[in-house]
Amino acid sequence: MPKPRIDPKSALVFRRRLATWFRRAGRDLPWRRTRDPYRILVSELMLQQTQVSRVVEFYDRFLNRFPTLGHVARAPQRKVMESWEGLGYYARARNLHALSKEVGATRDGVLPADAAELRTLPGIGAYTAGAVSSFAFERRAALVDTNVARVLSRVFAPRLKPKSPRDQKQLWGIAEMILPRTGKAAWTHNQALMELGALICTARIKRCGVCPVSAGCRSRDVVRPE
Ligand code: SF4
Repeated sequence: MPKPRIDPKSALVFRRRLATWFRRAGRDLPWRRTRDPYRILVSELMLQQTQVSRVVEFYDRFLNRFPTLGHVARAPQRKVMESWEGLGYYARARNLHALSKEVGATRDGVLPADAAELRTLPGIGAYTAGAVSSFAFERRAALVDTNVARVLSRVFAPRLKPKSPRDQKQLWGIAEMILPRTGKAAWTHNQALMELGALICTARIKRCGVCPVSAGCRSRDVVRPE
């Protein structure tokens, strides 16, 4: 399958419009106010398969019980699981505990900044590695989750299916192609992409009429107005 081509000017316009919109409309969420890698990691694990509003309820409570990765590592796994109660998908809590032990034993308790290194830790997939690298360390790292895959395919390559493993490789390629040059700008860009997928270009509805990137979107014409 030929690789999608994105001309640099379209990518630039997309980035600018997206970032401007995010500065105005992005939600003030607790994990957007911190660059603490552990706190970012906890938020990313909690947000997998779970609604933002539900995570907000649990996030501070969990962090009060386990303020650092070291606190998780020193606790018995059952205590970490208990604190995860109500959030579901307990494999995430088990993985966090295993990760805390490994990072404690091999890295003096310090999470790495590099996405490729993060990827080697228990329970950390490509998306979470990119998210921690970008959101905690402000590294220039791409990330593609379900929301981002949907937005990127709709905007740049409607023939790609966000859930197809083969197409996902191409969507990662697009995410890297359109990433801003600096890590700081990539932080805003990545947050904004995810926010657009959560608020405007959702799985259920496309709000093209109020979408900041509608002018350059290849799926805009096939969308019925709300
Ligand atoms: S214009 Fe519509 S389809 Fe395109 S990104 Fe915006 S909401 Fe999604």
